[in-house]
Amino acid sequence: MTIVYQIGHSLYLNITNRCTNQCGFCVRYKTDNIQGYNLTLAVEPSVKEILAAIGDPSRFREIVFCGYGEPLLRLAEVIAVSKVLKEQNIPVRVNTNGQANLIHQRNIIPEIAPYISTISISLNAENETVYNQVCQPSFGPGTYQKVKEFILACKPLITNIIVTAVALPQVNIKAVKQLVEKELGVRFKLRHYDDIMQENRYGR
Ligand code: SF4
Repeated sequence: MTIVYQIGHSLYLNITNRCTNQCGFCVRYKTDNIQGYNLTLAVEPSVKEILAAIGDPSRFREIVFCGYGEPLLRLAEVIAVSKVLKEQNIPVRVNTNGQANLIHQRNIIPEIAPYISTISISLNAENETVYNQVCQPSFGPGTYQKVKEFILACKPLITNIIVTAVALPQVNIKAVKQLVEKELGVRFKLRHYDDIMQENRYGR
């Protein structure tokens, strides 16, 4: 069971396998092994176990909540670990599907913003129809709009916001890029399947 795994100068945290999307192309449906790390969790790790697995964070350029699932399902743990890292001036990135406010039924951004330096949000589609096909959100209709609202709500509170889409045949990447940059006013990042397999998961 792998709680942390290093790629380049970053350390990735694998804290849950649960997710509120069911993207058919998700890495977790393809393999349980990324670069030799088995990311299937028998039990979700506690804050103490996560911090122990990180060890000395100053060895890394960045600590990334990512996993094989949606890290913000474990909001309390993300905050607790990020707080400790922030005290040591370690940059923290959260890779998310942008559904945390739906999950927790409140705006959680002010709760995490003080401790994280970057948020990477997977949008993956230029409209709701494509989003529902690609991501199959368990919250159903309206989720796409809520993810866009989540992105906008991050803007006043988090310095670095990256919105991503995976290059898939059914996605109009040019339209997603335009929407992200012009309508949402944040940075767009295109992801390719090969890159994701190198890192951790589809879409983030
Ligand atoms: S790709 Fe990301 S958002 Fe989609 S099911 Fe997998 S972990 Fe969840």
